[in-house]
Amino acid sequence: MTQHDSVEKLIIIGSGPAGWTAAIYAARANLKPLVFAGRPKTIPTMTLPGGQLMLTTEVENYPGFPHGVTGPILMAYFEQQAVRFGTRIVTDNGLTVDVSDADDGHNYAYHDCKSVDLSQRPFVVISEDDSEYLAHSVIIATGATANWLGLENEQRLARTGGGVSACAVCDGALPAFRDKVLGVVGGGDSAVEEATYLTKFASKVLMIHRRDQLRASKIMVQRAMDNPKIEVLWNKAVMDVLGDNMISGVKLKDTVTGGESTVPMGGLFMAIGHTPATAFLNGQLPLDAKGYIKLKDPYRSTTSVEGVFAAGDCVDSVYRQAVTAAGMGCKAALDAERWLGEKGVE
Ligand code: NAP
Repeated sequence: MTQHDSVEKLIIIGSGPAGWTAAIYAARANLKPLVFAGRPKTIPTMTLPGGQLMLTTEVENYPGFPHGVTGPILMAYFEQQAVRFGTRIVTDNGLTVDVSDADDGHNYAYHDCKSVDLSQRPFVVISEDDSEYLAHSVIIATGATANWLGLENEQRLARTGGGVSACAVCDGALPAFRDKVLGVVGGGDSAVEEATYLTKFASKVLMIHRRDQLRASKIMVQRAMDNPKIEVLWNKAVMDVLGDNMISGVKLKDTVTGGESTVPMGGLFMAIGHTPATAFLNGQLPLDAKGYIKLKDPYRSTTSVEGVFAAGDCVDSVYRQAVTAAGMGCKAALDAERWLGEKGVE
């Protein structure tokens, strides 16, 4: 364990659009931010450097890219821009200024933040190897991970652009999904919303739900029922995702009879909820019932602990877009800069 004596002006935890945007603004304001970007995991169900866009193939709705950009390349650009202005990243090799390879975007040397102590200033941010870093201010931008079923083939095809995704708004409009039968797993508002969105492109959308009743609100249920392109496969659980390079179908099990069936489809979208990555806070910031950080003022990035700011999907269960997260990251950096100025930390 190493105790670092110098006190950082700002530590940013998280490296999705919110984290890197905060870093770009903070670095340009001479705060020399230190980023815990997170270590890549084999199964992307936990914090991931670059955030959820690392699981997206083509991003067509991020402004400024008229011809689209892949998620990993977009995030590599964010990171390079942050590093260009003096952002540092905690890695196995110290505080490096190396940037990820844009072709892959996964830097396997980046450290996870294990825990924080926000009970006194300077705050303590503890790395995965138990090293302690001190900071006058902290921005939390750890995001939220889409929930996945956890099936091996689901993860493989999601990682390789094989037609499995956890975001219909991000991926649904891609040419690969045009005029295909598409599946949406889940029975909540997101599932109905994603299924409805996909009907613009698909020949048919099959909602796969494990029970005989949707969880979604009445108005959303009605919307699904009224849409001639949506069909609900009731009482069905996905047992496997089929296909080598591209999904060809799913294997389903009836949750009542136990009977198995194979349903061909050209795309599969998970809509089984999100989990904000806030467990490492260990109760030091107030969270809502689902684990999202509660802001002190919803128009700012301030939390209930002075000097601690939060941005992106760890705060926001509603919009969950890269561009909204980036906007919140900008707000958090401006809030941190002003707060540090008030405290005389330049
Ligand atoms: P949610 O309400 O938690 O629904 C998740 C759905 O996924 C449920 O139907 C659940 O099934 C299913 N599910 C969970 N784990 C599963 C698993 N392992 N295998 C198969 N199915 C699984 O999540 P959400 O739809 O993302 O909504 C989150 C919040 O945002 C809600 O409060 C929602 O109202 C809100 N929201 C609102 C709108 C809107 O109003 N336009 C749009 C989107 C989201 P069970 O039903 O069997 O538990």
